[in-house]
Amino acid sequence: MSDKEIWEAVEVEEIAKILIPEFHKHLEAANIKYLFQDKASSHGGLVTIAKASKSSPIHRSIHKFDFIIIVGKDIWETLNDTQRKAVIDHELCHCIKGNFDNWCTTPHDCEEFVEVIERYGEDAVAIKKLLNALKKDSSKE
Ligand SMILES: [Zn+2]
Repeated sequence: MSDKEIWEAVEVEEIAKILIPEFHKHLEAANIKYLFQDKASSHGGLVTIAKASKSSPIHRSIHKFDFIIIVGKDIWETLNDTQRKAVIDHELCHCIKGNFDNWCTTPHDCEEFVEVIERYGEDAVAIKKLLNALKKDSSKE
């Protein structure tokens, strides 16, 4: 149960409308609802700034949205424009088309505990994709 206040996030939608044609073209066909909640969610001390979720068939039949992206307004207020763009880009990356042409959410490319990275560095296998992306990025400079 949530006692959080929720309302439409127009400024989030405006950012998404710039990002979708540029990086998430498949989402031009998706109906996405953007919402603010007054406080970001937190679980076990970890704060979730934003969350994308796929609507269940029942919910979609009620409100027509394929995905809901909900953003914690308290944290949002502390972010600069680039950070806000990165947060929304991140959430849009979770929203994909599945193998059966169905909308799905996908997990992160990379998930690792910071302490494992501290102990094993580049040998932390779970961060391989991330390291490759960083190397690709630094070769641009
Ligand atoms: Zn995520």
